[in-house]
Amino acid sequence: MNDHAPNSWEARAEEYSLYGFTDLPSVRDRGTVVVTHGEGPYIVDTNGTRYLDSNSGLWNMVAGFDHTGLIEAAKAQYDRFPGYHAFFGRMSDQTVALSERLIEVSPFARGKVFYTNSGSEANDTMVKMLWFLNRATGRPQARKILTRKNAYHGVTAISASMTGKPYNEVFGLPLDGFIHLTCPHYWREGRDGESEAQFTARMAAELDEVIAREGADTIAGFFAEPVMGAGGVIPPSGGYFQAIQPILKKHGIPLISDEVICGFGRTGEVWGCETYGFMPDAIISSKALTAGYFPMGAVILGPDLTDRLQEAIDTIEEFPHGFTASGHPVGCAVALKAIDVVLEEGLLDMVRAGAPRMQAGLAEIARHPNIGELRGIGYMWALEAVKDRDGKVPFDGSLSVSERIANTCTDHGLICRPLGQSVVLCPPFTLTDAQMDEMIAKLDASLKQVFAEVA
Ligand code: PMP
Repeated sequence: MNDHAPNSWEARAEEYSLYGFTDLPSVRDRGTVVVTHGEGPYIVDTNGTRYLDSNSGLWNMVAGFDHTGLIEAAKAQYDRFPGYHAFFGRMSDQTVALSERLIEVSPFARGKVFYTNSGSEANDTMVKMLWFLNRATGRPQARKILTRKNAYHGVTAISASMTGKPYNEVFGLPLDGFIHLTCPHYWREGRDGESEAQFTARMAAELDEVIAREGADTIAGFFAEPVMGAGGVIPPSGGYFQAIQPILKKHGIPLISDEVICGFGRTGEVWGCETYGFMPDAIISSKALTAGYFPMGAVILGPDLTDRLQEAIDTIEEFPHGFTASGHPVGCAVALKAIDVVLEEGLLDMVRAGAPRMQAGLAEIARHPNIGELRGIGYMWALEAVKDRDGKVPFDGSLSVSERIANTCTDHGLICRPLGQSVVLCPPFTLTDAQMDEMIAKLDASLKQVFAEVA
């Protein structure tokens, strides 16, 4: 049991703060890490302890925790104009500039952008746009949303309904009309004797069947992360997007790429859809959009949805949706800088250069017989722990193996994240070779320690 002094930061945190996505018995046992500041990829707590945060906060702090250029961009904009909205025909100059820049760096020849404060709200906004444009153009029944099991799209009522995780049952979610297809994870979902190509064909056939069963004219859109992130870093099976996109096209169902994690370099290209060679109808962005230095999300519409939404808006004469801080000028100024930092100042190149080193280091660790699968791309990887590798048998859930690994890593000064029976690493793009070696060495030591305890 932790024994914090009554007035310590840890005790005050537990007394007054509610914790999201936190295993409370573990916090009661181990205490809260109260963070005061960061140094490069490290965070520092109130006791002065430094941790290498291999998760970039929550995938978002891609430039580390003390990037001068980003901090200066925010300060300069606070000096110029510290806040405004984007309602009633007004918006800040920074908002105008960012939308132009986002379309320039998007895969779309032309398009339009709508801002939110988070990735969840961006997904909700996209769904409401689809509902709105379908109703306005005589297709009010086209409301169903297709996603996949294990997908993570957020926590608001719509985006949680899109999320394919059973924990949302505690809220009585999903809402009606949200349909979750099989997760395209060949290692876990492939059947005995089924090749990867056959598995992908089965995923495509399932999509076809679901569309036939539900009726294509009742479906508003299909949302997919290029690589599932919070589902446990699951890249699609080979050829997955090439197999499903023609089916969606045939039925006129928009494909929305949720790039909240993948966008701006995490997969080694600007967009995950580039890495996997498909062209979505819209992109959902957040996290690295501001390098985590301001809360912001964006819906980036490609040409077809831009035209269809515009037609609907012209009919209704208004799109009745928006957040007080949509297109916040400080957020937009920070995003403009973050895009430059990632694309022009070398961060994307650092991911491209560092990814083989990270993969090789993790592949060495994955030789351990209790690692069932190493999966990922670019700077997003997961190692899945198994009791028996050949049978892909997971450890007994009561052993909380991935939580133990993450806690042991924390004891060694490394933050990593347990997800199911996997541990996830998605470091800042600024990581030096020495910091990457430190990350790999600490993970290796922690895994060996835990496997020796539980095996
Ligand atoms: N989509 C994806 C793919 C995500 O990973 C996340 C957050 N991890 C979200 C949406 C939701 O974003 P937010 O937490 O900013 O609401």
